Amino acid sequence: MSKILPSKIGQRLREEFQFEEKPYFDTQPEKESTALIIVDLQNDFLPGGALAVPNGDETIPVINQLQKQFDLIVLTQDWHPKNHQSFASSHENKNTYDVIKLNGMDQVLWPDHCVQGTEGADISSELDTTKASLIIRKGMEPEIDSYSGFFDNGKLKSTGLIGYLIEKEIKKVTVCGLAADFCVYYTAMDALDQGFDVEIVINATKAINPDEFEEKLKNFKLKGGTLREFNLN
Ligand SMILES: [Zn+2]
Repeated sequence: MSKILPSKIGQRLREEFQFEEKPYFDTQPEKESTALIIVDLQNDFLPGGALAVPNGDETIPVINQLQKQFDLIVLTQDWHPKNHQSFASSHENKNTYDVIKLNGMDQVLWPDHCVQGTEGADISSELDTTKASLIIRKGMEPEIDSYSGFFDNGKLKSTGLIGYLIEKEIKKVTVCGLAADFCVYYTAMDALDQGFDVEIVINATKAINPDEFEEKLKNFKLKGGTLREFNLN
């Protein structure tokens, strides 16, 4: 099989696949073609966790309500082996939040978090996951970090999420969860790259560094992404 550039995956799949599935019911077309991606709503990213995002728990009631607007819901789950190279503990004489070069890319060194099989890696029990049809696990390669739900940070390997969304005839994705300035942002940017319409629900996400998130949002909007605030009723 020839090597496909990650940037072309969505384009190629849309060109090659033809769907003739008949819908079971007549539903609203717009709702049908939009998916919600809930990023990394895991114990370690919540207050009390190893890499807690400030006020991250405030997103949960919003996301639980928000899900009512969607038929297709995907969760992502950070899922690291315990020697992961994104952990400061994997490097001698390094502190958490130092930035190093890892395989030529800038890498923030995090506290150990979301280690496979630990309680910290579990999806929060406060999150309603009843309607989620897919959980994408990421960050499993020890040598490379993976902020986005679509690719690792070097865009070397795809998680398969593009194909899933295209096969489900999704045109627009809504992104929420944790953390806004890392995994939410990179998931949203990759979705834009793949030709989806993308929105971030701004009160359904929290940043590790809100100032950095503000800066990154400029790129997101410049690329065609939109922001929405969801009103809790
Ligand atoms: Zn991680």
